[in-house]
Amino acid sequence: MRTVKFYLIYAVMAIATMGTFNGCESGTGIGDLNLYSPSDDAQMGAQLDAEIRNMPNEYPIYNNAAATQYLQDIMNEILISDEIEYREVFNYKVTIIQSETINAFATPGGYVYFFTGMLKFLENEAMLASVMAHEIAHAERRHATQRMTKQLGLSVLLSVVLGNNPAQLTEIAANLFSGLELLRNSRSDEAESDEYSFKYLQTTKWYPGAGKMFFELVSQGGTTGAIEELLSTHPPDEKRIAAIEAMIKANNIPPPTEANLFTQRYQQFKQTLN
Ligand SMILES: [Zn+2]
Repeated sequence: MRTVKFYLIYAVMAIATMGTFNGCESGTGIGDLNLYSPSDDAQMGAQLDAEIRNMPNEYPIYNNAAATQYLQDIMNEILISDEIEYREVFNYKVTIIQSETINAFATPGGYVYFFTGMLKFLENEAMLASVMAHEIAHAERRHATQRMTKQLGLSVLLSVVLGNNPAQLTEIAANLFSGLELLRNSRSDEAESDEYSFKYLQTTKWYPGAGKMFFELVSQGGTTGAIEELLSTHPPDEKRIAAIEAMIKANNIPPPTEANLFTQRYQQFKQTLN
């Protein structure tokens, strides 16, 4: 049971963590099947959240009530969008983790985690809102349980082909949950999350094209080890930037101004972080 749980956590984390920096390609559409219910997502997320809070070495919680509230307010404003389906079912909640890692991730059921490294890396509030909306999209579009449905289907198929050999099945399950498979499969989820991030932001006060600014910032790179590591494994994809650019054009979105980027306010917020 412990092993299954471990692989489940690993799989969900891998999907979520690789998320923001993955390249994207159009999906095939077969990934939309989901054998889990939205309540399953919520329950799974609550369990994973408890696990994360029980791993202070890997995920030290950043106890800054003002900073957490600042992020939660941004999340709540995005959740007003008509495009949001599961605000009543999911427990939408932001947690900040004290780590220089430049990343953010979501688990099923609306739990979104930001590393302090990401908050320091971002340059304005609109970029933060775009990453937040992207993570919300992973939860809303239920990417993790869709992927689990696929893996489960494949396991059942293999058990039929191979006979009921528990040792062999465990080994196969472990291989299925390994990074490469998830990386390849998550590209269409990434593209979809970028698309929905843009849609969600359109009904807010933030510049909806801020995701493009974020990827441009990522591709400019940085000098810290935290970003170098990410750039080597998950280079920002030109296609992903082009896809957001296309949405900006299609929706006649004017160039951003301070009135929808909130750079000054964000820089003030960054000074409160340690
Ligand atoms: Zn993502």
